[in-house]
Amino acid sequence: MTMKRRDLLVGGAGMAASAAAIGLSAEAKAQTTQSGIHWDREADVVVIGSGATGLPAAIVAREGGSSVIVVEAQSHTGGHAICSGGNVPLGGGTSYQKKWGIQDSPDLVFRDLTDWSVVEPNGFPDYRFNDREVIRAFADNCAATYEFLVAHGVVFVDKAPDTLGGSSVGNSVPREMHAAPMDWPLIQTGKPAAPDKRTTMSTGNGLMHPLAAAATKAGVEILLSHRMTAIHREAPHAGPVLGIAADNNGTPVNIRAHKAVIIATGGSTTNVNFRRMFDPRLTEEYCGVAGQPWSDQDASGELAGMAIGASLWGLFNNTGEFGSGITKPGTVGGQYGYVNLRWFPGSEVFDKARATGLHVNDWQNVVLVNMIGKRFYDETGRQFTSGNYGSIDPYVPDNYRNGQNLKFKPNTFLDAALAGIGDGHNGGGPIWAIFDADAADREKWDPKPPNVDYDAGFCFTANTIEELARKIEMKYQRVPMPPEALAATIARYNSFVDSGVDEDFGKPKPLYKISKPPFYAGWATPVLHDTRAGLRINARCQVVDMSGQVIAGLYCGGESAGGFSLHGLARATCQGFIAGTNATAEKPKA
Ligand SMILES: Cc1cc2nc3c(=O)[nH]c(=O)nc-3n(C[C@H](O)[C@H](O)[C@H](O)COP(=O)(O)OP(=O)(O)OC[C@H]3O[C@@H](n4cnc5c(N)ncnc54)[C@H](O)[C@@H]3O)c2cc1C
Repeated sequence: MTMKRRDLLVGGAGMAASAAAIGLSAEAKAQTTQSGIHWDREADVVVIGSGATGLPAAIVAREGGSSVIVVEAQSHTGGHAICSGGNVPLGGGTSYQKKWGIQDSPDLVFRDLTDWSVVEPNGFPDYRFNDREVIRAFADNCAATYEFLVAHGVVFVDKAPDTLGGSSVGNSVPREMHAAPMDWPLIQTGKPAAPDKRTTMSTGNGLMHPLAAAATKAGVEILLSHRMTAIHREAPHAGPVLGIAADNNGTPVNIRAHKAVIIATGGSTTNVNFRRMFDPRLTEEYCGVAGQPWSDQDASGELAGMAIGASLWGLFNNTGEFGSGITKPGTVGGQYGYVNLRWFPGSEVFDKARATGLHVNDWQNVVLVNMIGKRFYDETGRQFTSGNYGSIDPYVPDNYRNGQNLKFKPNTFLDAALAGIGDGHNGGGPIWAIFDADAADREKWDPKPPNVDYDAGFCFTANTIEELARKIEMKYQRVPMPPEALAATIARYNSFVDSGVDEDFGKPKPLYKISKPPFYAGWATPVLHDTRAGLRINARCQVVDMSGQVIAGLYCGGESAGGFSLHGLARATCQGFIAGTNATAEKPKA
């Protein structure tokens, strides 16, 4: 991936200036400057992270005439974006929308994303707390971002835009497109999609592989296994940003940024202390974050920004009971249980994922218990609402009837799972899916490696329920599960199957007893998914400090930025586009 200097001179489409004209080399050129920092590398623009924000930012900046270095903590590019479903709701009048006869405009996007009256069926507002300045910039750059993606090799499935995934209530028109994988290998399997799926399925592979290729072609230098550890500013809380410090497998590297640094580090869900500022319940056991083990969201961008004075922004967006911040798992028996992401043995990260997980088709087949072997909710219960585009019908912008017409429907499964065992600790502790041999047959599960993870303690099996409880020993099971408690829970549940009524949690007609050995306990603890609050930015994606002043030379976008509650890729790619455009236009620091 690392570019040679010769490659820097090969201009990508639209690249105006040669490296000579820019007057810079991105090659190592150790020097110590007035700041006293020993610089190992230099570029006009330094981008931290190679995901949905970072790669568009890098390409735009490079094609705008800047030399660009991207540092990426992992040994591969793509971030959570490449793990994603590739559903991209970019509208505002794209050529794609026009092709399908859909009339949209930046004003309509802005109005939809700032409509105070848009609420989820559980009463939580989606967009009320969005920052108007940030949304206006998104609305105005949405269509251009779409055209940018297509110009850089992203192919969208050739069908009318829809509202699946990533779109919430209150969209006046369909905006969502789906990135097709084409012939790129899928990171989940290591192989390309089946030939009949290559132009029809939606996946982040179809978004990020082309962008990585486009970045390389344009002459962006991507430094893999370089984790940013700090941002250098002239003075701790004053003056412009000068560059970054990074760690390359134990070797410290200082990279000077003549124009700007762009934080594109992707959020904070894997940093336990950081995420608990938003929600104290999110203790260590929530260890199977969606997108891991491909990449982490360790809040390093937010922390580095805060260390030089940056403010956080729009914090409600990360705590409201809506969207996909916390999700019910879709698979059980492995550490990483996000519903739409499974790792298979051909994947380059399978050694870290360790199991593919058993996908639950019907929650009638399992009983969910907490650390002490007790049920806590109807297993078929739903997570917080999201992506429910059509649930306000009719949707009338800025109208109180939008809320009044909803049938209030609290989704409190996750709250029950996170409630804990009443011993004064924060966090709900592990949740286990208990099932038997008959359930495995009905679900067509084979509860053996590589489908489940016995070695690391995310799945257990035994011939009696009591023995199963005794076997559950792992890092996050901080109290033993009492065997008699689990046996009593299963006996009571089986009696509900006889009577047809779940007297405890109202599960709709419990269907199957748990009675045929072997019995299993599979990890089914809620999964954290995305971050919707981070550093304060303005319309240009410049980072703003605690006194409301811009930190010169520092930009941010995507999940590490705050003020915007839209899920995912549209927000990230668009803010990358904005940040890259403005960063490259900066004057180099003297
Ligand atoms: C399974 C899954 C499915 C999803 N599906 C969708 C979908 O269909 N539609 C949608 O809109 N959104 C979806 N999303 C969300 C979407 O992928 C993210 O919101 C988006 O990728 C965020 O972009 P980002 O640039 O902020 O972060 P990322 O894409 O995660 O990129 C951040 C990058 O920064 C790197 N990094 C972090 N810290 C450092 C550091 N200190 N130094 C150097 N590099 C660092 C990371 O390794 C990573 O490569 C999904 C997410 C997941 C996990």
